[in-house]
Amino acid sequence: MNLLNNTNGVSRVEGVALPAIADHFGTPCYVYSRAALTAAYACYQAALVGHNARICYAVKANSNIAILNLFARLGAGFDIVSGGELARVIAAGGDPAKVVFSGVAKSRAEMQQALAAGIHCFNVESASELEQLNTVAATMGQRAPVALRVNPNVDPKTHPYISTGLKTAKFGVAFATAKELYRRAHALPNLEVCGIACHIGSQLLDPQPAADAAGKVLELVDSLAAEGIVLEHIDLGGGMGIRYRDEVVLPTADYLAPMLERLAGRQEMLYFEPGRSLVGNAGLLLTRVEVLKHGEEKNFAIVDAAMNDLARPALYDAWHEIVKVGAGGTAQPLQYEIVGPICESGDFLGHDRNLALAEGDLLAILSAGAYGMAMSSNYNTRPRAAEIMVDGEQMHLIRRREEIAQLFALESVLP
Ligand SMILES: *Cc1c(COP(=O)(O)O)cnc(C)c1O
Repeated sequence: MNLLNNTNGVSRVEGVALPAIADHFGTPCYVYSRAALTAAYACYQAALVGHNARICYAVKANSNIAILNLFARLGAGFDIVSGGELARVIAAGGDPAKVVFSGVAKSRAEMQQALAAGIHCFNVESASELEQLNTVAATMGQRAPVALRVNPNVDPKTHPYISTGLKTAKFGVAFATAKELYRRAHALPNLEVCGIACHIGSQLLDPQPAADAAGKVLELVDSLAAEGIVLEHIDLGGGMGIRYRDEVVLPTADYLAPMLERLAGRQEMLYFEPGRSLVGNAGLLLTRVEVLKHGEEKNFAIVDAAMNDLARPALYDAWHEIVKVGAGGTAQPLQYEIVGPICESGDFLGHDRNLALAEGDLLAILSAGAYGMAMSSNYNTRPRAAEIMVDGEQMHLIRRREEIAQLFALESVLP
């Protein structure tokens, strides 16, 4: 689904013109489409028809409570990585009983919070965490539901920063030691072994590594069952990629098919933790050209969004499509560096883009719904952008633009 539609020279998200959003809420702002979010979720649902499966949206991709609420209403569970995310899920009307808690080091306070809330499962990533969780559960007189996140050591063929399932990664427990840890977990009085989890990386395009990982996980599940350790669910993580530029992206059902084939006829409930593939292409960052600067070697279009708003280009050298909003104007196309006003050479949003620009033009930075706002910061004391959800002909402000005074409200000077 294409987020932007252009009719009569006006760029719209669903039925709302982007210039109207900019006029109303100012720039920079994130714009999401309810229909696109719903459609992405529906693709997973359709792919999983006939399977006993649960979709747990990975909150870290975009944690705005309006988005969490939308997925909760569609029946989703949630994959969280902090106590803060659990609080968001609950505030958004999500069901804690459908929450899985991932992450390499959960604090004791987070364990307590999640046990009190009654989450579905802790995805435990080390021997030490297993012991700590048992201790915390004991002090609360509870049994903590656990899965071990195993590291199947398959190469997901993605960017090294978002590859998580190799032996060298900090994530998960090695296959070789997983069985030993399951025996330990099974023996601990305040743990309830319920499942197994794996997540091999992000922005995955080839379905084979995930299918291979599922195959390895199944072998482990079966050999545990032979010892009397029976698991109720298998969590296959997230990671399906999206199209940013020219990536060949399979439809959701085709991406999941090789994995589901290996899982055919299994009794265990299947869990999936998609993040990027649910929200990435359902959002854009709307920004205005402030200054055009023609240097000796390069032309710069300095816009009012920056690396603090969208870190992915600076962080991963990620490519986002950048389009001019609306037609018209008399400017000639030139090769532009699209940069923000932050005092860093790494503050760019796109290199070498052929665009016909005038100061004051609006640009849409596409595929920015995932790891966009969620990774934003206040670097250079820049208030974070507003977020707007479009629903048909309606635009809803789902996060106000921050105010400068809020940015130092928690600070104080010495007496
Ligand atoms: C980040 C993450 C996800 C979501 O990954 P996407 O690539 O956004 O789908 C799922 N599970 C775990 C454990 C994660 O860390």
